[in-house]
Amino acid sequence: MRTSFHDLERRISRLERQIQPPTPCNCRLVTHFHNAHCLAAILEKTERKCPVHGFREMGFLFQRSCPYPVVDEDNQFCRCPPHPWRSLQLRRDSVTKEDCAAAMQAWHDNPPGPESNFEFQENSDRTKSLFKSYFEERHQWPRETGRQLPSLEERRILHAKQYRRSGNR
Ligand SMILES: [Zn+2]
Ligand SMILES: [Zn+2]
Repeated sequence: MRTSFHDLERRISRLERQIQPPTPCNCRLVTHFHNAHCLAAILEKTERKCPVHGFREMGFLFQRSCPYPVVDEDNQFCRCPPHPWRSLQLRRDSVTKEDCAAAMQAWHDNPPGPESNFEFQENSDRTKSLFKSYFEERHQWPRETGRQLPSLEERRILHAKQYRRSGNR
């Protein structure tokens, strides 16, 4: 059987990947945060460089309400007050029906207090300014370095792969 040059090339690159797996891109599809403090901590402490693209694309920045966890990698930086439902989802051991019911009950018994207008305004101003500096940085990166950031489609594919690797957690 004849081996074409193309086949050979493919085989070699497969072998190379086995010997030295490519450093994966860590760009994101989405970053969640609970409030401006949470976002500031995430943007400050999470890895901000991508081994492939240089600048790490953080994806859509979405505010999530406190019962729901942020991205796994960022949980360690979220200093928001614990919430029974979030704590339940972050548990690494198996969760029973009773645990769920207890968390639901605790959530129901302690609804989050109303935010004052001042807090709301402060949070929204701070969030806007964090968005602004992140997006400015992101906009400048390709201009200053001539490098490309991954497209939305590339990030979707990557996200699907990571999701499968994480065992659909
Ligand atoms: Zn990347
Ligand atoms: Zn948080």
